[in-house]
Amino acid sequence: MKVLKFGGTSVGSPERMKKLLDIINPAERQIVVLSAVSGTTNSLVEIGNAYLEGDKTKAASLIAALKNKYEDFIKELFAKPEYLQQGREVVDYHFALLSGLANDLFTNIEQKIILAQGELLSTTLYHVYLKEIGVASVLLPALDFMKTDEDSEPIVDYITSHLTPLLDKHPDNKLFITQGYICRNSFGEIDNLRRGGSDYTASLIGAGIRSEEVQIWTDIDGMHNNDPRIVKGTKPIAQLSFDEAAELAYFGAKILHPQSVFPAQKYKIPVRLLNTMEPDAQGTLISDASEKDGIKSIAAKDDITAIKIQSSRMLLAHGFLRRIFEVFERYKTSIDMITTSEVAVSLTIDDTTYLDDITKELLKFGSVDIDKNQTIICVVGDFGAEKHGYAARVLEAVKHIPIRMISYGGSDHNMSLLVSTGDKTEILRSLHNRLF
Ligand code: ADP
Ligand code: ASP
Ligand code: MG
Repeated sequence: MKVLKFGGTSVGSPERMKKLLDIINPAERQIVVLSAVSGTTNSLVEIGNAYLEGDKTKAASLIAALKNKYEDFIKELFAKPEYLQQGREVVDYHFALLSGLANDLFTNIEQKIILAQGELLSTTLYHVYLKEIGVASVLLPALDFMKTDEDSEPIVDYITSHLTPLLDKHPDNKLFITQGYICRNSFGEIDNLRRGGSDYTASLIGAGIRSEEVQIWTDIDGMHNNDPRIVKGTKPIAQLSFDEAAELAYFGAKILHPQSVFPAQKYKIPVRLLNTMEPDAQGTLISDASEKDGIKSIAAKDDITAIKIQSSRMLLAHGFLRRIFEVFERYKTSIDMITTSEVAVSLTIDDTTYLDDITKELLKFGSVDIDKNQTIICVVGDFGAEKHGYAARVLEAVKHIPIRMISYGGSDHNMSLLVSTGDKTEILRSLHNRLF
């Protein structure tokens, strides 16, 4: 059974939504994961922020504006009055829920309930649309099977044990629709898999049901060899290994949610990145296989903070790194890059929630320097087969730009540079021109 995920732009207008049936084959048993209509989650974030700030008037006007969009959307989506009426009831229900939150105490819990409405709206409206045109489908509530643990990590076994019976209930149905992004957390509250999380949903479902293939349908013809929003003339990559794709996703290639490769990788489920606007384009196949052809792609991850810990006591002291890592572990803050010398360690984090506490603890070991507004530039490829020359080519291409950290050899397919965010555009372009 395949899993097909359609992103925000792929369901971004009634016309696009109707066109999904050019891609979905209703005769084949499959699960279709939908994102919210593009722009919706951003609006929901704003509505939640207005409530958090206690600005109910602003929240109400944002809700009214978004509701207007959906009223226009359903007028175009449905042809028959009966189904337009059903669509209207769906819209009224979700927007009444948003407005109703003005009467309650507003916390992070309510904020997450707001964020979930986008995917609930898109999937329910699509389900009603399929009814209107006579295509049988089953709407599966993601909140019944997508769950995270105390560390906000999704639980694949839970998906297997809760989704399989839902599918088994409908042996004769082919087309199942569900929400991307949303889940329940360990308290049973409505939560989400972070922005862009619908890719993660698709991969997790793929892993949970041991799917034959996961397809991520989006607005571009696969993973490109550089960030197409910044660099001109980027090209799609036909094939990537799971490791390569995971590095690119983690280090900023927005086409994939940072964690979305791991569940598919664990169960060796091939992932295809495909273009809804150009369904016949080859796209990118992510699988166990890898082409041995050197440097494949470049990505960049912003909002990185570098921390340097300098200590004369570090010299020859075993256990020093362990004690430093323990500080980050205590604050559940993951480290992305690390470089060491005999007297200092530099490392990077992207989550600065506990930066002050971490700094305080690190000061017990020596001096601590913090650099904010850093960007990790990640060059990905297969550097294992022919090891020499790659680092030199990368460094030659960036020799005019100050580099804060370099990491090479951590794996066979990644070289990372830490630079000031102000230099990002130049470094991406320069690497592109010289490496490809
Ligand atoms: P969706 O809404 O379908 O999930 P996203 O906007 O999340 O789509 O991801 C697709 C976008 O990712 C593309 O439009 C492109 O601008 C951006 N992107 C960034 N880096 C890359 C890359 N290396 N290859 C392809 N797309 C990329
Ligand atoms: N709608 C969510 C977001 O905009 C999830 C997704 O699109 O993948 O982040
Ligand atoms: Mg996305």
